[in-house]
Parts: sequence; structure tokens; C-alpha cells
Amino acid sequence: MARIELNEIAHSYIPNPKGDEDYALKRIHNIWDDGGAYALLGPSGCGKTTLLNIISGLLRPSQGRILFDGKDVTELPPEKRNIAQVFQFPVLYDTMTVYDNLAFPLRNRKVAASEVDKRVREIADMLELTPFLKKKASGLAADAKQKISLGRGLVRSDVAAILFDEPLTVIDPHLKWQLRRKLKEIHDRFHLTLIYVTHDQVEAMTFADQVMVMYEGELVQIGTPQELFEEPAHTFVGYFIGSPGMNLMPITAEGNQAVVNGSGILLDDKCAELARKAEGKKLELGIRPMYLQVKDAGESGGIAAKVTDVEDQGNCRIVTVMLGEKTLRARVPEGEFIPAGECSLFFPRDKIRIFADGRLIT
Ligand code: ADP
Ligand code: MG
Repeated sequence: MARIELNEIAHSYIPNPKGDEDYALKRIHNIWDDGGAYALLGPSGCGKTTLLNIISGLLRPSQGRILFDGKDVTELPPEKRNIAQVFQFPVLYDTMTVYDNLAFPLRNRKVAASEVDKRVREIADMLELTPFLKKKASGLAADAKQKISLGRGLVRSDVAAILFDEPLTVIDPHLKWQLRRKLKEIHDRFHLTLIYVTHDQVEAMTFADQVMVMYEGELVQIGTPQELFEEPAHTFVGYFIGSPGMNLMPITAEGNQAVVNGSGILLDDKCAELARKAEGKKLELGIRPMYLQVKDAGESGGIAAKVTDVEDQGNCRIVTVMLGEKTLRARVPEGEFIPAGECSLFFPRDKIRIFADGRLIT
């Protein structure tokens, strides 16, 4: 296993890149600790696969260096990097048996037959592939094939890291959950460095200790699921994490208030001071739907708004509120009063986050 260091990595697929917009990866400078379970989370097109391919060596970055345990591997081809990579769609030999498919990465490395047999059976057992070992891969369903692909990624015990690129895309929803747990178990047992790419926040949150959120070719935040939820460093993280995402609205800072739509929202002193200092930047106030309080229009001290929709989600209700032209969402626990029409909105001061040009001000 290895500690992976990305040193000022940038990548463009265009021969002579000019502006930022020509780069699929803008500037990635980051260390992935040995034995960590990481999820790389971001929307389609943000550069996740590009980054994985740079780590595995399938792609040479336009700029920057990659180090494994301090050793520069930037010029090394994939086979010299000792990385296992599992792709979005099954990659295997259709005409071989499941056993031979799993054995392939080991035989390729001249591992002794007895050791090959031991590892193949161990992995097959873990992935519940044992009954299929003698079957040809071609006859199997898509999710069984993807399990073989996962097995091929996991079978070697000498790899520096295993990279998974949205590996559960073709897997049935009920099996998905099971496989994710399995990967987590495998990580806990063998302390492999695992990098798991996904665009699904639930998948990222349940799999990894550290989630790295990617947006437009940049890693905008690295943190535990809790940190991403409570302290999003970037408006994108606020919006992307949580369901529904964080409410964000443009404000101006005046005194100790954030002014939105002509009404003032009281900020704590520290927050107000930082907001005033960020003058000239685009200021936004963020609050999670679970913290936004929707009270009766008669309650004083709140901001006048209007409830336009209530959606029952079983254990809670999602309330849509219009504050002027701006649509906000509140998550209200079951059984709590929700006014109809005119209402008064309350923003608990300790739950307000202020962003300047997209970045959290602290
Ligand atoms: P993700 O895996 O997050 O969906 P990718 O790394 O595949 O994102 O793509 C990042 C950006 O780079 C996208 O804008 C995509 O269109 C572009 N891109 C990816 N692969 C190539 C390629 N081989 N040639 C040119 N552009 C590419
Ligand atoms: Mg991809």
C-alpha cells in the first residue's frame, strides 16, 4: 500500500490550453494517506475519471508530479505502478471461466499456483461468486460480471491502491447496498488505500471516512460526511450535499445584518464583521433546510414569506417557501405545525453560513 501525493496536477485534453476553461483538472494538490478509504464525489464531467487515470498512469498529466511513498512515478506506465483499477463497466475475458478471470492478475505476476488458488477462493467467497467459479463469464448477468471485475481489482495483495470508477453503475439497487458494505468490510480487514469515485452522495457518505468533493476540475473540499454537511467550504458543496441541498441566497452586509429582499437577517458579530470585510465580493447566505424555521405569520422577529408547497416524505415534510422571488426549502419534522400561505421565517444565527465568491468565510 502507499501514500499517494498529487503535486500541483493540472490536465488539459487540448494541445495548447489557454484559460482555466481549457483544463479538465485545474489544480489538484493533495495527499491520500496510506490505508485510507476515500470517496471522490462530484457531478458528471467534473474530472473524476481524468484524475483516476492520472493516478493509475493511463493518462499523463499536462502539469505536475505524482508520488507514491515519496517516489516520483509520473513517467511510469500503469503496469509499473502497482495500481488496481475497476471501471464503470465490466472488463473481463468472456471466454474464460470466472476462476480464470479472477486468477489472471495473479498469474500475470507469476504468483505461485497454490497462492493463486487461495486468493481466488477467498475473493470468490467474499463476493459470493463461489458457485460460478467453473462457469464461463460470457453466460453471466451484468451484475455478476461486474462482481468479477471487482474481484479482479481486489485479488492482488501487493497493490499500492485500488481505484474504483463508479463501479456499481450496472448493479441492481438492492445488490448495490450489499456490495458497498462488502467493499467497506474488505477495507477494514486489509487496510487498503481505496479511492472510490461516485456521483452519488449517499454512496460516498456510506463508503468513505473522507469524502473529496470535486467541482469543475477542482477538489473544493475534503472532509468527513459530517464536516461537509455542517461546514461546506464552498456553495457547491452546500448545494450538492444534503437532500434538499443548502438554501443559498444573495445578500448584502449592512451593520450586523444580512439584507435579503429588503429584510434584515441578524448575524452573529463575528460573521457580520467578516461579511462586511468581504465587500466587493459576491455574498451569499446559506442555511440547511433542517435549520430554517417556518412559523406563523403572526410571530414577530421573523421575515415575511409565503408557503407555496408541502411535500410529505414520511418522517418529515419538505416545505417550499417564497421569500420574494427566491425559493427556499425547509425540512420540518413530522407532527410540527406548518402555516399555510403567509408565514414568518426564522434563521437561527448559529446555523447561518456566509459565502464570498462561493467560498465559506470563517
Ligand atoms: P467525470 O469522470 O467526472 O464525469 P471526466 O474526467 O470524464 O469527468 O471528464 C472531465 C472533462 O474532460 C469533461 O469536460 C470531458 O468532456 C473532458 N474529457 C474527458 N475525457 C476526454 C478526452 N479523452 N478527450 C477530450 N476531453 C475529454
Ligand atoms: Mg467518469
